[in-house]
Amino acid sequence: MGKKVAILGSGFASLSASCYLARDGYEVTVYEKNEQLGGRASQFSRDGFTFDMGPSWYWMPDIFEKFFSDFGKSTADYYQLDRLDPAYQIFFKDEAVTIGGSLEQICDEFERIEPGSSKPLRRFMERAADNYRIAIEKMVYKPGRSPLELVSAETALRLDRFFSTISRDIRREFKNPKLVSILEFPVLFLGAKPSDTPSFYSFMNYADFGLGTWHPRGGMYRIVEAMAELARSLGVTFKTGTPIAEILVRDGKACGVRTPQGEVFTDLVLSGADYHHTETLLPQSFRQFSEKYWDTRTFAPSSLLFFVGFDRKLQGVRHHNLFFDTDFEKHAREIYDRPSWPEDPLFYANFPSVTDPGMAPEGGETGFFLMPLAPGLEDRPELREAYFERMIDRLDQRTGQSVRPAIRFSESFCVSDFIDRYNSYKGNAYGMANTLRQTAFLRPGLKSRKVGSLYFTGQLTVPGPGVPPSLISGKLASELILKHHS
Ligand SMILES: Cc1cc2nc3c(=O)[nH]c(=O)nc-3n(C[C@H](O)[C@H](O)[C@H](O)COP(=O)(O)OP(=O)(O)OC[C@H]3O[C@@H](n4cnc5c(N)ncnc54)[C@H](O)[C@@H]3O)c2cc1C
Repeated sequence: MGKKVAILGSGFASLSASCYLARDGYEVTVYEKNEQLGGRASQFSRDGFTFDMGPSWYWMPDIFEKFFSDFGKSTADYYQLDRLDPAYQIFFKDEAVTIGGSLEQICDEFERIEPGSSKPLRRFMERAADNYRIAIEKMVYKPGRSPLELVSAETALRLDRFFSTISRDIRREFKNPKLVSILEFPVLFLGAKPSDTPSFYSFMNYADFGLGTWHPRGGMYRIVEAMAELARSLGVTFKTGTPIAEILVRDGKACGVRTPQGEVFTDLVLSGADYHHTETLLPQSFRQFSEKYWDTRTFAPSSLLFFVGFDRKLQGVRHHNLFFDTDFEKHAREIYDRPSWPEDPLFYANFPSVTDPGMAPEGGETGFFLMPLAPGLEDRPELREAYFERMIDRLDQRTGQSVRPAIRFSESFCVSDFIDRYNSYKGNAYGMANTLRQTAFLRPGLKSRKVGSLYFTGQLTVPGPGVPPSLISGKLASELILKHHS
């Protein structure tokens, strides 16, 4: 038998690590506190409506392909991917802008909004593609152990891209506020304000306009099912409904976990649960980071979510819809600078049944609404309801219909649910932001500095938030384990 490893949580990072470790001969057991696998990418079903409870944007298809190809497989062995065309639409106050499925279409739309803007857009995209290549080849697959990992002739030549911000770069080239919002949108996935995000992260714009927006038929949960199937085929055991209450430490080394059924002894422990929560499972003296440390990090937003079943097809909506018809700067300040419920929020609405009818009962529409919020806010039922009404009003106003009579049910999910369901620090939705001071070796590490044989993976460590980075994080953690324990 190989060495035994206990993995906490079954999010994408844990699933990824479990596959690599099992392939390399480890005896892997994954302990998940909830009844379902997938962590923040859980699925909720009701009356024939299927909802992804977390991620809905499938970006960077190359990273998913790379993951499955490491096991001699392809995504096509597990799920069907459709490229969305149009990719998404953005509602502004006076019009809806459509982002097409190719750069040509997007250039045409830019020209329509601001004549002459396709030229700087092509230049911007060339640089974004260059950043993407460097990010993938030279940066994101590094374990974040030392600043030297990032030093190469190519990164040295592009040092300026780490010290300017994406917001400054975009505003230098584009004056039209709609174009600025469109180009700033992709870096919101990194969890910080565009004005706090280094220029280098324009690789997210390449992920958006260059690589496109995809959808796994049946929803994002298909990816979880695919990874779990692969993991089982490699010998991984899953124990759901099994919260870990303690990480056992003997002679300064992690030696097992306490489950509701009792202690389980292992050679190694890897946690894919939120980093902050994981450290609370250790005696104080074995924790690397203080409460003050966590409190002073820039966290990605939390969210107010609604899962809504509609009895009829809606007019004027696409698979992905961004409601940027209010002041983004103001909402961003209410998330990052003065945490408070927003006065006039931006939000996102996803109707996957528009392109994937199987996700709703015949003739119905599956609706997922997301409003970003500062983590740690007080969250009350009346507040949730009031914002739901406002989002529905805005949907009606922008699409010229009345959707309320078609609502069969709506379920909400907010800060307190993120804490209860995922042990999320302050109810963050997608981890710790990628700012200059929270990048690579400056993020909490994959290996504990205080406890031997204890490793971490997931969106709070390297490389950062999002599904593709979580897949990479699992790979990086497993490589580090192999290096130290093979
Ligand atoms: C609303 C929302 C929208 C998003 N949209 C997108 C998107 O469109 N595209 C994209 O790429 N990314 C998106 N993300 C981000 C993406 O979902 C996450 O970055 C990713 O799923 C994180 O995976 P993870 O493995 O780090 O952690 P998680 O998914 O959080 O997994 C951690 C797991 O650990 C479990 N756990 C916690 N404590 C314990 C314990 N004591 N014992 C046992 N188990 C425990 C939790 O239950 C959870 O299952 C979104 C996230 C959210 C919440």
